[in-house]
Amino acid sequence: MLEVRDLRAGYGTIEVLHGISFEVKAGECVALIGANGSGKTSTLKAICGLLPVRAGSVTFEGERIDRLAGHVIVERGIAMCPEGRQVFPEMTVVENLRIGAYARKDAEQESDIAAMQDLFPILRERAQQDAGKLSGGEQEMLAIARALMARPKLCIFDEPSLGLAPKIVAEVEATIARIKARGITTLLVEQNSAMALRLADRVYLYESGEIVLTGTSAELRDDPAIARAYLGE
Ligand code: ATP
Repeated sequence: MLEVRDLRAGYGTIEVLHGISFEVKAGECVALIGANGSGKTSTLKAICGLLPVRAGSVTFEGERIDRLAGHVIVERGIAMCPEGRQVFPEMTVVENLRIGAYARKDAEQESDIAAMQDLFPILRERAQQDAGKLSGGEQEMLAIARALMARPKLCIFDEPSLGLAPKIVAEVEATIARIKARGITTLLVEQNSAMALRLADRVYLYESGEIVLTGTSAELRDDPAIARAYLGE
């Protein structure tokens, strides 16, 4: 479904992705893991059209998307649930959900809002509240629901557990597992490597803008390289 080949990107004169290659097959959950600053978020931004691709390619369902604008990439079927949630704080919960469906041209947005509120009952209870007044966990649920409102084929999650209490992290993990069970392909960046290894079918380990290791979650669960990447040994 998604193929990233020899991707190079950066900021100003600095290159931070030095030839990244990986793939996500339809129906899979793939996790990108690695230490802070190793380039995971930059990779997601490049896929979504938010960071220019300097070399290499990004192919989605057989077509190059690395020169397309972000909103066109959403229309093609890729939605992102960004790091730090980034809900629109002064818009209501329902308005945030509608924004997620902005690129859609069908007439089923309202029934999808109801479906999201079935999935996350808190979004029904708080429907008319400003999103900025929600707790961190509630904002994460809203950010996930907002991404799903685009009806994506591929849903990307950037650090969904960041800054949340353990009980809420467990809820987020269960939610992503349910999304995967619905057949939505998922690409996940996660500092919580235990959670990433539980959710993902396959994992790619980043180090300083390169992928240094890949395998199934089962293969990598006990690999000392994973512990090294996080503990800096
Ligand atoms: P984190 O978990 O901290 O988000 P990451 O693996 O996602 O880490 P990136 O955020 O992609 O890593 O960062 C990769 C490199 O790019 C880092 O050296 C970072 O300092 C740099 N970088 C990220 N965003 C910018 C930016 N807007 N301007 C300049 N440099 C940036």
